Amino acid sequence: MIPYDDLGLVNKSFEDDFKKEFNAILSNGWYILGKYLKEFETSYAAFNKSAHCIGVANGLDALILALKNYNFNQGDEVIVPSNTFIATILAVLHNNLKPVLVEPDINTYNIDPSKIEEAITSKTKAIIVVHLYGKCCDMEKIVPIAKKHGLKIIEDTAQAHGAMYKNQLTGTFGDIGCFSFYPGKNLGALGDGGAVITNDDDIAKKIRQLRNYGSEIKYYNEEVGFNSRLDEMQAAFLSIKLKSLDKITAHKRKLANIYLENLSDDFITPQVHEHFFDVYHIFNIRHPKRDAIREHLLQNNIRAEIHYPVAPNKQKALREIFKEKSFPISEKIHNTTLSLPCSFCHSEENIYKVVEALNKF
Ligand SMILES: *Cc1c(COP(=O)(O)O)cnc(C)c1O
Repeated sequence: MIPYDDLGLVNKSFEDDFKKEFNAILSNGWYILGKYLKEFETSYAAFNKSAHCIGVANGLDALILALKNYNFNQGDEVIVPSNTFIATILAVLHNNLKPVLVEPDINTYNIDPSKIEEAITSKTKAIIVVHLYGKCCDMEKIVPIAKKHGLKIIEDTAQAHGAMYKNQLTGTFGDIGCFSFYPGKNLGALGDGGAVITNDDDIAKKIRQLRNYGSEIKYYNEEVGFNSRLDEMQAAFLSIKLKSLDKITAHKRKLANIYLENLSDDFITPQVHEHFFDVYHIFNIRHPKRDAIREHLLQNNIRAEIHYPVAPNKQKALREIFKEKSFPISEKIHNTTLSLPCSFCHSEENIYKVVEALNKF
């Protein structure tokens, strides 16, 4: 069986280093907000060419704290793409703000810049762009729109560690970049983890407090904060994997290229453009017979996944909020997309087998 992903196998290559750091942390007895977190924050800020990195508990919290830092008024509006993973929308709702969904571009699957302005009202305060599947959004068009209307840009870069547009890294175009280190992400921990990056000293200070009970000095609380910290163990594991992130990305890009060069024209493959350095968190194809293809692959001992089977506006949790609106492009993507194996754990031979099976469909 060719799995969709095998995190045990992915992490096997780091086993010796993980065990060494685990033993060191176990015996030093300092598990939260210590030197391993500082070290990871320093190296992840440097990796992203960003002034600050603040480790938090997960990607959803990164987004929640990024919004919280602005103290927007209840009912203010935040623009979000309609085909994102639900976390982006939940972060807006948990801040008592109103998510306004904007449709994606059918070719890039990212928010369609030409549809943003019509969604802006006097209550709009921010845009959260999502660099879906590991492709950077069209930031050259989005940044000027935000500037013109005085909106903040928060980047959900949970799927795009190291992705670039014109050699600029995702997470550095706007005011704040929000990362997830959920185990399956391109840079994945051995549990939950997340981070915020920013070049703004005041935002960094505020989010650093918010993640730790609103406190900078222990037992002195300046803000109504949260407990959302990246622990020492995860920070140590992430520091180890960060050293290999470029290698992981290169591997995924090599596998993606095998698909791009060999899949038959029956399948719609991800758009490739010289200005975009894609990191293929997900390599998806689109086809009207998506479910039959998935079944056909399974018959050939290959597992494919769907990201995501249900559009956010159709989820039971959110249905009521968006019931008056329809999002046909988003739904078309949800109904036709299929994610193929494209992980650090896969060999080139694995991918050629998937191609062969697909081209026989
Ligand atoms: C994974 C993901 C998140 C949430 O990250 P968690 O660490 O699981 O909380 C947010 N947005 C997107 C686009 C994601 O893929």
